[in-house]
Amino acid sequence: MRVLMVASEAFGLIKTGGLADVVGALPAALRDHGVTASLLIPAYRGLAAVAQADPARAIALGDPLGCGPAHLVPFERADVGLSGWLLQCPTLFDRPGGPYLDAAGQDWPDNHLRFGLLCRAAAVLATVEGLTGTAFDVVHAHDWQAGLVGAYLDTFGGARPATVFTAHNLHYGGRFDPAVLSELALPTSAYAVDGLECWGTLSFLKSGLFYSDAITTVSQSYAAEIQTEMGGEGLHGLLADRQASLHGLINGIDDHAWDPRRDPALASTYDADEATSGIGGKLLCKTDLQQRFGLAVDAATPVVGMVSRLAWQKGVDLVLAAVPELLAAGAALAVLGSGDAALTKRLREAAQAHPGRVAFIEGYDEAQSHRLIAGCDLLAVPSRFEPCGLTQMYAQRYGTLPVVRHTGGLADTVVDADWAPEAGTGFSFGEPTAAALNDALGRALNCYRDRPRFAAIVGRAMDLDRSWRAAAGPYADLYRELVAVGSRTV
Ligand code: ADP
Repeated sequence: MRVLMVASEAFGLIKTGGLADVVGALPAALRDHGVTASLLIPAYRGLAAVAQADPARAIALGDPLGCGPAHLVPFERADVGLSGWLLQCPTLFDRPGGPYLDAAGQDWPDNHLRFGLLCRAAAVLATVEGLTGTAFDVVHAHDWQAGLVGAYLDTFGGARPATVFTAHNLHYGGRFDPAVLSELALPTSAYAVDGLECWGTLSFLKSGLFYSDAITTVSQSYAAEIQTEMGGEGLHGLLADRQASLHGLINGIDDHAWDPRRDPALASTYDADEATSGIGGKLLCKTDLQQRFGLAVDAATPVVGMVSRLAWQKGVDLVLAAVPELLAAGAALAVLGSGDAALTKRLREAAQAHPGRVAFIEGYDEAQSHRLIAGCDLLAVPSRFEPCGLTQMYAQRYGTLPVVRHTGGLADTVVDADWAPEAGTGFSFGEPTAAALNDALGRALNCYRDRPRFAAIVGRAMDLDRSWRAAAGPYADLYRELVAVGSRTV
C-alpha cells in the first residue's frame, strides 16, 4: 500500500503547530502497518538543506499556475522517518518569514497560489504515470493548505488514487475571494455549492471536505461536534451529509521525541517511580523550570503550566482571569506561548504584577516546551474547542496532570479523577469560564496535596499508550477499505 501525504508542515522539517507533529510521525508509524507513505511539502527557504534534498534528481513540472517554474525534488531523512518530494518554486516559497505568514505576521497575499500549486503538484504526482516511478493507492491531504487536491483530481478525470482529507482544525478555512479561481486553473463550474463555494467565498477546506472519498478528523468527539451548528464553522450541513464518510481518528504522540526517560532537553531524565514520588528527576525538572522562568524555587509550591499558541481558541484569557484565585490557592503559573498581541501583552502584565509567582516566556521554543511540561505539576488546557490537542497527552506521559476543558480530543483523552476515581488521568471542566476552570484547578490542587492519590493518578496517566504505533492502525485500515471499495462510500 503506497500513500502520498500532502501537507504544509511536518515535524523534523518544519513545524508551527500540532499538524506538523501528526504529519511528521504518521509515515514512520504506518510502516508497521504495511503502508509506505511519501510526503509532498513546499520547499520553504532553507528546507532543501534540512530535508537533505537531492536536486540532481529534480523532476520538472513546468509552470502550472503561471507563477514560475516548479520542480519536485526528492528528499530522504531516514533519521526522522520521512521521505518524499519537496515542491520547489522559488517565486512562491523561497522567501523569509513563516509558511503562512510574513515577518510582520500577515498572511502571505499569494497563499492561494502557494498552496494551490502544492495541491496541483500533488494531483499531478498522483496521476501522471511514470513521473516518479511510484504509483499511489491513496492520496492523503492534510488541512486547508492541501484542500484542493481532490478538486484538481476531479478536473483531471480518468483513473486516480482514493483520496482522504484530514481536517486538523476546521477553524482555518483557507477562504479566498472567488476571483482567484481563474488563477488556480480550475474551471468556473468548480465554484458551486457542490464544489469550492462556501458562504460566498472560495474555500480550500470546503473543497477538501467535498471532493475526498473519506474525511477524517482527529478525535471522535470533534467529529461529532463539527456536525453541529455550534462547532461546524458553517460547514456542519456538508459534514452531516457526509457523516458516513467522516471518521474521528485520535492522534497519537511521538513517544520517542516525548519520553521523560531519555529527553535531552530536560535538566534530568526521570521515570514513573520518580514522577509518582515527586522526587529525583521530576523534582530536578521542577526546580530547573522555576529557575529558568524566574519563579520562586520551592518544591512544595504547585506549578501550573501552559504551552500554547496564544489564540482565542486556547482559552488563554480564562487562565488570565483565573490568576487571582490560583495565587490565593498557593500555586504558581508558568506560560510559554506566542501569537495574539493583546494576549501577549496581558500575560506580560500578569507576570510583572506577580513576580516569582506568574511567569511568561514569549516565543516558540521546542526544548523549552519539553522543560515546561516536565517541570510543572499541572498543565492547563482550557481550550474553547480542541480538535485533538497534543500537550495534554505529552503532560500525561511526563507525569504532569492535565486540567482541560471537556471538549473535542481533550474529552477523549482525559478522564476526570473526581468523576471517575478509579480511571482518572487528569481533571476537566465544562463551561468555558474562569469560574469553571478555577473549580477544576482547585480540585486538582487539593489532589496535589493528597500525595498518595495524586501519585496514583500520575502513575495511571504515565501508563497510557498514546503512541502512533497504536494510533496509525485505523488510518491503515481506512486506506485498505477505500482501496477495496474503490468508490466514494467509506
Ligand atoms: P495546535 O496545533 O492547535 O496549536 P496542539 O495541541 O494540537 O495545538 O499542538 C500544539 C503543538 O505545538 C504541541 O506540540 C505544542 O507543544 C507545540 N507548541 C505550542 N506552542 C508552543 C511554543 N510556544 N513553544 C513550543 N512548542 C509549542
